[in-house]
Amino acid sequence: MERRLIEVQGIVQGVGFRPFTKTLADRIGVTGYCMNMGTYVRIEAQGQKDKLDQLTQALKDEAPPLSYVASVAWRPMLTFESESGFAIRESAAAPDTGVLQMPPDAGICADCARELFDVQNRRYLHPLIACTNCGPRFTIIEGAPYDRQRTVMRAFPLCERCREEYENPSDRRFHAQPVCCLKCGPALFLLGKNGQRIASDDPIKYTRSILAKGGIAAVKGLGGYHLVCDALDDRAVQMLRERKGREAKPLAVMAPGLDTARKFCEISAEEEKLLTSPRRPIMLLKKKKGTNISNEIAYENPYLGLMLPSTGIQMLLHRYPDGGKEFPLLVMTSGNLSEEPICITEECAVEKLGSIADAILAHDRRIITRTDDSVARILSGKICVIRRARGITPLPVALPFDTGKAPDIFAAGAQTKNTWCLVRKAVAFIGPHIGDLDDLDALESYTNGVERFCRQTGVFPTAAAHDMHPDYLSTMFVQRFASRIAVQHHHAHMAAVMAENGLTGSSIGVIFDGMGLGSDGTLWGGEFLSGGYTGFERMGHINAITMYGGDRAAKEPWLSAAFWLRSIPGKAAEALAERIEGEEREKVEQLQLSGIGKYETSSFGRLFEAVSAMLGIRRENRYEGEAAMALEWAAGEAEGQPYDIILENNKDGFILDMRSAVSKIAEDIISGKPKAEISARFHETAAEAVLLGCLETRKRTRLSKAVLGGGVFQNARLLQAAGKKLASNGFDVFTASAVPSNDGGISLGQAAVAAARLSGS
Ligand code: ZN
Ligand code: ZN
Ligand code: FE
Repeated sequence: MERRLIEVQGIVQGVGFRPFTKTLADRIGVTGYCMNMGTYVRIEAQGQKDKLDQLTQALKDEAPPLSYVASVAWRPMLTFESESGFAIRESAAAPDTGVLQMPPDAGICADCARELFDVQNRRYLHPLIACTNCGPRFTIIEGAPYDRQRTVMRAFPLCERCREEYENPSDRRFHAQPVCCLKCGPALFLLGKNGQRIASDDPIKYTRSILAKGGIAAVKGLGGYHLVCDALDDRAVQMLRERKGREAKPLAVMAPGLDTARKFCEISAEEEKLLTSPRRPIMLLKKKKGTNISNEIAYENPYLGLMLPSTGIQMLLHRYPDGGKEFPLLVMTSGNLSEEPICITEECAVEKLGSIADAILAHDRRIITRTDDSVARILSGKICVIRRARGITPLPVALPFDTGKAPDIFAAGAQTKNTWCLVRKAVAFIGPHIGDLDDLDALESYTNGVERFCRQTGVFPTAAAHDMHPDYLSTMFVQRFASRIAVQHHHAHMAAVMAENGLTGSSIGVIFDGMGLGSDGTLWGGEFLSGGYTGFERMGHINAITMYGGDRAAKEPWLSAAFWLRSIPGKAAEALAERIEGEEREKVEQLQLSGIGKYETSSFGRLFEAVSAMLGIRRENRYEGEAAMALEWAAGEAEGQPYDIILENNKDGFILDMRSAVSKIAEDIISGKPKAEISARFHETAAEAVLLGCLETRKRTRLSKAVLGGGVFQNARLLQAAGKKLASNGFDVFTASAVPSNDGGISLGQAAVAAARLSGS
């Protein structure tokens, strides 16, 4: 017999941790009690040693879906109690342990989904149904500590029956802050284009009738509004694209359940698991052949961005007992104009979405924190988060080192796909995806978000980390901090992947990216680094190309192609440049002569786009990353050998000269070789570049841990090919998973670098 004091740290309050602990203790057969102490859960448990071991382990392994267990610590107690069972005790105050208490939002759980369609249940068709395991969390929290009084739910006093459930430890709604019912909770209502109330005793039925007629509705979700239409109605989809000004970017869709989703997509066991998890992200799934999905949804794209419903409202839009049809697939695209922040208020919905939607389906539960849908995929059995937001934020990442005396740190993130990050005592909280910080609306959303997060958590950082680029809005924002640390963009990419994988010490960093400002003033993006959190050395890179016209090439890959080809001697390159430039040839020459917007870049992302344009696959990016993605799709099932890469050593490091490869690609294009074959060979070449750079870096540093980061590694084909080559050459390979490989992960990397430097480790 033994009695133990166990402390569980993490996000363990308001997520059903105490009832879970009691169920566990009863099952295993130990006595004692559990209670909330300050921000952690305190447990005293008494029983046989092996049973107590079992309990301690299960607290971690079987923790409830919305919890995040940072640590389970225990020590033996000297006393024994005579007690008959395991109890849940009242909460007590305790000093702050530094772990922030904010669970992420969770998609509707199976129990609530069952109740929603159970005629006997008192929550039958309750659109805002929720419980301890599901519903809004992060998006409705106003302040710390997390309890109902500091969420928007304080505006809705619990009715008697809801209160009973809320206060009963054995009820599945025990202490679930968003709990309510049709009687006491927020209510749905409808708004018209001009913000006028639309009288209807059944807003869901009304909205469904709009969708059935081929119309568009704006619908309030957990973290913001969506624009919705019937995905199988081509005209509705076209109209949505026109009204929203979204020319080509793929639209996300929602299926009511797994069975329906399977009619449209291939879904593996791993994909199913994430798709149905409380995170409920949009997942990139392989489209099935021969389905009736319009090309309008995702042009020439072998993947479909699909999610399952997160809320009762979304489930009811698909299926509702109003005699109307069941929608097997709805478009669920973010409720915003082009790249602006998504609307979270009714005012915004009327102002920005009124011209797009035929009606706005709203309710009076406010959204505090704007949180887009998360986007993820499975690659080689591993989760790759592409956009980290609803359902995932603000889950923390534990930094793999002691931050010692480092103060609380704010990391500002990058310019595109911005997220920010807050570090307190080796725990990093990444805020929700903000998007591109290129206008004042986005900056305002960013500033408000940061200030709110500080209020929500009660953490007010005194030090800031930021990108080296002086013109990023995120860099300007941190000027308000007295203590600032500039972190090189690709070093941040590397540190993010290292931190997520728990790496310490030194590694090789292969960062293939768009562009980021390098320490030498040129724009990097095809880099081989070595080092750890506190510092790095640039070991090598791909050859830099001189480009002109500033930012233009980001939207116009044909310009990148032109400048790449102009840097290469030979007839084929010349002929291809002429073909690509066409009528703009003179303009390109003028650009080059005038030197306007001149820069040097070793960006691998630009090379991908250039090759896409050379092959005539995409001359322009209608949305970010389009040309490179289309190049990947074009390879299809084709395979091929890499083109030649020339490795040169110089006094500063090595250069992987890709010009001979590009020259050969030009020859293959001119001689009419199939696009699929050239694309496959180019991907193989990029993977070979990764290997060559790592081999050379290992020769110089003896390091064998290879960290792959940067936006280019979202390319599945490249990631898999490079991973294979490295593994078979004895490298340990680390890639991004829960934190995006793209600039969405930059803030974590900045935070890790700053924390390491400030802690002196
Ligand atoms: Zn639930
Ligand atoms: Zn109620
Ligand atoms: Fe980047």
